[in-house]
Amino acid sequence: MQMPKRLRKDRLIRQLMEETDNNNLLNLLEKETFCFSCHKNISCFTECCAKLHLVLTPYDILRIKIRLGLKSQDFLSRHTYTRPMYHKIFPAVLLKMDKEKGDRCPFVTKEGCNIYEDRPGACRIYPLARASKAMVGSNRGATSSKEKFFIVSESHCLGFQEKRSWSLAEWLDHEGVSTYNNMNDKWLEIIAQSLPMGTKEELTRKLQMFFMASYNLDRFRDFIFDSNFLNVFQLPAQVRKDIKNDDTSLMMFAFDWLKFSLFGDKSSGLIIQQL
Ligand code: SF4
Ligand code: SF4
Repeated sequence: MQMPKRLRKDRLIRQLMEETDNNNLLNLLEKETFCFSCHKNISCFTECCAKLHLVLTPYDILRIKIRLGLKSQDFLSRHTYTRPMYHKIFPAVLLKMDKEKGDRCPFVTKEGCNIYEDRPGACRIYPLARASKAMVGSNRGATSSKEKFFIVSESHCLGFQEKRSWSLAEWLDHEGVSTYNNMNDKWLEIIAQSLPMGTKEELTRKLQMFFMASYNLDRFRDFIFDSNFLNVFQLPAQVRKDIKNDDTSLMMFAFDWLKFSLFGDKSSGLIIQQL
């Protein structure tokens, strides 16, 4: 496998680590603070926004497709590619670099990131990386997570030479990382599962459902409202209204639906009720 020049890591770092040799870039964050600053006057400005293996989470995709005014299918076709990753089964969606511009991110300009307010979680947390492992308890659905933070030590990044000091909490807060983590936590539980998913045919069907409900939310909405779904499952009126009109509500519902449809997990209870 050809190695990327630099690898941006996010909370799904464990899966990426399994597929790369770049672990030596990561140093456990052991001190309480670290020095870092990134700004337009630094000579490496935007150098890091190229040649990335940038894995997108469902919430990343939701934010960017809204930002760009695109339907999720159009965003996926134009800007992403897919490969099996989590447990080597569940597909991951990665941002396509722009080959005509030297493999740079399609959203980078001389002025910086032109989707800055909606940039992916992995871009927010950088130069840190979070390794998170969902711990599934004996009662399926009862989970907690273990996490560790790393410094991504890349020699071309001059931000580490700056004097601004951050605690971990300050950095996460400043970059808006917690919102992204909260949005993706339920999904992390899904991809951390290694439960059997039936026969080969069932697995194929379930992975198609996983892809649609995780990444192609507009199509998932059509699946709910334009198929037999609502004749088979009864949803409270407020839930129906929310998922029809609000992408974030739809995404959270999609995670509950995936737990149920992939693994038979009914722990969300109130949303999915078979007639
Ligand atoms: S300081 Fe680091 S994060 Fe900032 S632009 Fe330079 S390489 Fe990128
Ligand atoms: S999304 Fe923005 S911050 Fe992330 S790699 Fe692209 S330009 Fe850089």
